[in-house]
Order: sequence, then C-alpha cells, then structure tokens
Amino acid sequence: MSKDNITDIAVIGGGAAGLAAAIEAKTAMPKAKVVILEKLDRVGKKLLATGNGKCNLSNINLSSEHYHGSVRNAMRIISSTTSAKDFFGSMGVVCIADKQGRIYPRSGSAATVLSALRLRMEELGVETRCGFEVNFIESTPKFFRISGSAGEKYPCRRIIVAAGGYAAPQFGTDGSVIRLLRSKGCHTTKICPAVAPLRVRPELLKGLKGVRAKGRVTAYSGGRFLKEEAGEIQFTESALSGICVFNMAHLISNYDGKLTLRLDLAADMETEQLAGYLRVIQYQRSKHTVEELLTGIFQRSLALWLVKNGLKRNMTDEISTLRDNELIQLARFIKAVDFDVISSASWKEAQVTSGGISGDCVDERLQLRSEKGIFLCGEILDVDGDCGGYNLQWAWSSGIAAGRNCADSLRGAVL
Ligand SMILES: Cc1cc2nc3c(=O)[nH]c(=O)nc-3n(C[C@H](O)[C@H](O)[C@H](O)COP(=O)(O)OP(=O)(O)OC[C@H]3O[C@@H](n4cnc5c(N)ncnc54)[C@H](O)[C@@H]3O)c2cc1C
Repeated sequence: MSKDNITDIAVIGGGAAGLAAAIEAKTAMPKAKVVILEKLDRVGKKLLATGNGKCNLSNINLSSEHYHGSVRNAMRIISSTTSAKDFFGSMGVVCIADKQGRIYPRSGSAATVLSALRLRMEELGVETRCGFEVNFIESTPKFFRISGSAGEKYPCRRIIVAAGGYAAPQFGTDGSVIRLLRSKGCHTTKICPAVAPLRVRPELLKGLKGVRAKGRVTAYSGGRFLKEEAGEIQFTESALSGICVFNMAHLISNYDGKLTLRLDLAADMETEQLAGYLRVIQYQRSKHTVEELLTGIFQRSLALWLVKNGLKRNMTDEISTLRDNELIQLARFIKAVDFDVISSASWKEAQVTSGGISGDCVDERLQLRSEKGIFLCGEILDVDGDCGGYNLQWAWSSGIAAGRNCADSLRGAVL
C-alpha cells in the first residue's frame, strides 16, 4: 500500500475528547493527516446537549475528590494539560464561572463551544468522516486497518479511541467500542450509569412526583457513612433525582443493592429548632387538621407526604391533639427520610458511565499496553467525575494528552 493512502492518525469518535485529541495532534504535527471517524451524521452532538444546552465545560475546583476510577495519573493529566478556560480562550471563546465554580461559555450556549472546535479543526485541516461506525480494528505489522459497519476499510498508522461509554446512547454511545477493545485483550472495571437518577420503590414516592425540595442527601451502606451533598432534590414517579442525587450514582458500582440515601429536608435547621417551629404552628393552626401542619414550610404535596409518613395519625385529626413527642418524632423524620436504592436509572437517563477500560490497560501516555500505537481518551476509560463540569474537563484533558502523545509517537516516522 502506498504511504499516501495511509492516514497518520485516525480518531474514533467525534465527541469532546475526540475533537480535543484531533486538534492537539494536528497542532503538534501539522503535516500529519488527522481524520475523525464518527458514527453519527455530525460530530459533537452530545456536546450540544451538555449543561442543559449551556455546556458546563469545566470547574474552578478540580480536586481529586470529584473524580472516581482506576486511571492512576488522571489528576496529573488534568493538572498538566492546558486548562479548559485557556484551551477555549485560545479559540476566542470567553468563559465565566458561576457562584458554585462551574465554568460555562459566556454566551450561555453549547453551540459556541462546538463551533469554536469546528473552526479550529477547519483552520488546522483536521478531516472528519461522519457516518463511519467502527466495528473492527485489525493490526498488521506496519499499520492498523479500521473497518466500518458498511464494509469500508481505513488504514492508519496510529489510532486515538475516543468513542465514549454507554451513557446516553441517543447520542451515539452504546459501548460498542468498549466491546471491541475487550476482544483485543482489554479488560473493564464494573460498569454502571453515573450522574443519573437513583431508583427507589415507587410506592414510597406516591404523591411526590414533580416535587423539588432543597435539602441534603447522605449515602450510607449498612449504616456506614459514604458521602453527603446538599442541593435540590427532585422526586419522580420511581426515582430520586437532582444534582446531589446524581453525584451518588457512581456508588452503585461498589454498593449495588446495599445503598441507602438519607434525605434531610430541613438541612437549614437543627432538629430542636424544627420542633420549636412545629410547636408554634400547632399554636397558630390548632383548629385545623394535621394536613395543614407543614404547608407553611414545604410544597403542599411534600407537606402531606411527610405528615402521612412521619406521623401515625388520621389526616382529619386536629393539630391541637398532637402530643409534643409526636412533634419531635416528626421533626426527626423530616431530617432523616431513608430510601433504599433499588438501582440506578437507565443508560438513556444517565449522563456518564462509571467504569470503563481499566487504568491498568493503558500506560501513563494513555497508550494501550497490549497494542502500541493505540491511545485512549475520554469516557471510554475508567474515569468519571461528579456533575459540575468535571466530565467534560476529563474529556478535554485526556483528549489533549492522548493527541499530543500520539503525535509524539509518530515523530521520526516519514510523513
Ligand atoms: C445530557 C447530558 C448532559 C451532560 N452535561 C455535562 C456538562 O454540562 N458538563 C460535563 O462535564 N459533562 C456533561 N455530560 C457528560 C459529558 O458530555 C461526557 O462525559 C463527555 O461528552 C464524554 O466525552 P467523550 O468524547 O469521551 O465521549 P462522547 O462525547 O460520548 O463522544 C463519543 C463519540 O463517539 C462516537 N462513537 C461511538 N461509537 C462509535 C463507533 N463505533 N464508531 C465511530 N464513532 C463512534 C459517538 O457517536 C460520539 O460522538 C453530559 C452528558 C449528557 C448525556
């Protein structure tokens, strides 16, 4: 085969990590032919849906507590690569942080981020081939041959795999390339949906569908404290949702069937303070039924649910008939409502994959140990972050690192 027919670097997957990897590789080696092979009809489709269309592309606080997984140098990669703010700043995108430290494009639009990436690829001459679903990678002594599902063959010298995980298959990610890498000797860690709602028994949530409440979520397993986070808790027909719940979902990989979420629905008050408030209400609303006991402090459906489940009373009982120990018992209940988690939500509802190709399968340059010349980046690897820009940051950083290392590995080769 003539050398002109062989692409220097083929990037599998045109998501956040693949776009960053292609840009970095081409910047590091301008003469190299860099091509993105993307299964969908356009690159960056998932990117447009991130952050509710606003693209929360990074976070000011990039500490290790927000990341989980087995890639040992993940934090070093994040701290040693160009920050997302500078990466996008160099493409003319102005970024700003909100009060929680979440970084967004100033435009408030994910399209700003995608079009900046596309413009940079155009300037550099990165090529894209959409509608190419990779289903096989063959290694020959001199090059790789990538096959597509329509039978097309694509010879290349190096490969960067950036095909994502299983989460949100509606955006092209169904784990097919993870399975392909397994057949090449890679192993995976336990895989489950992360940054996702958590399912509980639906009968426990009766009457709560659509309710949103501020509070604190604490995760326990067998009484052992695991993690806590404050924020808005959302109730659906069969699941608990909201960012503070999303951030507990990765725990399923270690505590499947043994995870309990405790909700503190009055995190801004001590139990004694809450009981004091209930005593005042008892005085003010003494002639009303217990249905009205909590309607001054919670949304009506939540107020009714708490009274029904926290007091063993008929809803028609008068508030004046409540004993003080019942008020204290209700205050304690409001501050510690327990739900056993049945499972996480479906892949379609999840934003991220917990688990993936194990960190043992790649070296510190993100190159496969079993097959030199193949580099991995993004969600396909066993790294997942909390909700708040951490996952896109990993995609940019690992993409930049894989792109640069891949280009470096070609140095000396005749291009
Ligand atoms: C609704 C939603 C909102 C999110 N919001 C945020 C947010 O605001 N902030 C944040 O940090 N994270 C967010 N995330 C998570 C973040 O989008 C992902 O972690 C990140 O996109 C992963 O990047 P990636 O490039 O590794 O994979 P992906 O972005 O998933 O890209 C992988 C690409 O590979 C392609 N592909 C897959 N298989 C093949 C194949 N066989 N052949 C060719 N191509 C293939 C896919 O079509 C896809 O384009 C969100 C996720 C979702 C679903």
